[in-house]
Amino acid sequence: MLNFSSSFKTKFYRASTIFSSGFGAASLSLWSANYFIQDAGEGQLLSVTGSLIAGLAALAGAGCAHAYFAGGDDRSADYEEVLRKDAVTGLLSRNGLEQVLPTMLEGIDDIKSMQRVFLICMDFDELRDINDVYGAEVGNAVLKVLAKRLSDLVGDTGPLVRTNGSEFVVGLRTGRDDRELRAAVAALMDTLSKPVRIGAVTYPVYANGGVVQVHKSNTPIDKLLRQANLARACAKKSGRGSYAIYHPEMSHSATYRQWIETELTYAIQRNEFTLNYQPQYQMPSGKIVGFEALLRWQHRDKGAISPDEFISVAESCGFIQQLGTWVLRRACFDANKFSPDTVVSVNVSTAQIEEDDFIDTLQSVLAETGLPPSRLELEVTESVLIRDHARMRRIFDEIKNLGVSIAIDDFGTGYSNLTNLSELAFDKIKIDKSFIQKLGPAGKLSQTGDSGSMVSTIINLAQTLGATTVAEGIETEEQSEILQREGCQIMQGFYFGRPETSDAFIYNAMAKIA
Ligand code: C2E
Ligand code: MG
Ligand code: MG
Repeated sequence: MLNFSSSFKTKFYRASTIFSSGFGAASLSLWSANYFIQDAGEGQLLSVTGSLIAGLAALAGAGCAHAYFAGGDDRSADYEEVLRKDAVTGLLSRNGLEQVLPTMLEGIDDIKSMQRVFLICMDFDELRDINDVYGAEVGNAVLKVLAKRLSDLVGDTGPLVRTNGSEFVVGLRTGRDDRELRAAVAALMDTLSKPVRIGAVTYPVYANGGVVQVHKSNTPIDKLLRQANLARACAKKSGRGSYAIYHPEMSHSATYRQWIETELTYAIQRNEFTLNYQPQYQMPSGKIVGFEALLRWQHRDKGAISPDEFISVAESCGFIQQLGTWVLRRACFDANKFSPDTVVSVNVSTAQIEEDDFIDTLQSVLAETGLPPSRLELEVTESVLIRDHARMRRIFDEIKNLGVSIAIDDFGTGYSNLTNLSELAFDKIKIDKSFIQKLGPAGKLSQTGDSGSMVSTIINLAQTLGATTVAEGIETEEQSEILQREGCQIMQGFYFGRPETSDAFIYNAMAKIA
């Protein structure tokens, strides 16, 4: 038997991976042939021939890495094992899933079968932040803890896979009752959404899940995982810890995101963007102290497209820098028309604030529009606080040094910790509207359960940190009263005023003041 050197193992492993993808299969075969021929005996020459045939078969789309290993000699068994396993967690790898899935799918083509098979794809976004801030070793430790939790839960009921990054996949065989499926998925999501403690540090994680049913045993795994991922992306919109079951409509929504990406680039040239402004009222005086600038897109064919639909696309395709600068310039320009004792609040995405030239852009927009920096406020979401802390501190300080203020938006939905918060220079905390909307109607904070206590905790926290509290999404008088009683200083929401164009708003605001 050949004794492989470690460098050969590495070459062989890499080459096999390429091979399994069907790329360069023929060249790999020639490469392996050359390698073997150097000191091959008769038996090994047979193996060379086998690999050539299998490589050509893969190139023709008729085979995969498995075909290469079909000879099943001892050497290949080692490497098959390497391919099957994920090196970090020891779970099955993507290749491993490919190997075990056919067994799991036996019988599902029979329409009378009472059994159904699902793939549940779960992912959590926090791994990137953990890797960035604490290093890949900590990231790997978090993955191992999660893998262990999952395997304790799943046992040997189905394959448990780490496909890549922070993505785990579980194969599940259930009966016809949907409750069985939902209970299982809920348990998985719960397992992946509990904080991970390593040493003295706790790392919060929140997974989202996508579920796809395997209807036919010959559906390619790539397609199934793509569908499960689409479902997961849809689930993300409903908040952390949620999951969704794939249905074909979701494929249309992926196409829609692509369409948005293309159209975004033309929208600025076609003047399809405008800004609306929503007033913010100081309490108890009821005086307007600011306006939040909210982006609106009126597409020439499709009509109004909501920021919830296009901002995330702009962020993921990199267009947010250009769009964000447009918003900043427009808002500063418009704010010159508002009362001089008001501030304009501009939403800024994390990707924007992290750009190297963000401070330069800010400075030049202020110079160009002539807006006093004290009249500009930037709203950043709480998620910004868990990015590279030292870097964020520097950026926050630079913004504050320019005289511009900072509000932490959607507070309560992220997982900033007190140390991070207390070290950053910001002026306001905006309580997320999801908490406000659960307040009332009884008018008593104590009757509102978790949301009520969350709101009072945030207000107390803001007071401790010397920040002003803003509540957004106020829709009822009761909510406004509860918040005032709790000491919230600034109010924003449909109850006080909807977002409107600058002209309409200036008119209304003037009428109210008069
Ligand atoms: P946000 O910054 O938290 O803005 C508040 C959202 O709540 C706005 O939605 C506003 O119209 C809505 N809202 C205000 N009062 C109420 C209320 O009483 N009830 C309810 N149900 N909703 C209320 P909008 O304009 O659709 O914006 C959604 C999100 O899109 C914003 O959330 C913000 O994260 C993002 N966004 C909007 N404009 C920009 C922008 O120029 N740049 C960036 N990066 N993000 C933006
Ligand atoms: Mg905002
Ligand atoms: Mg908000």
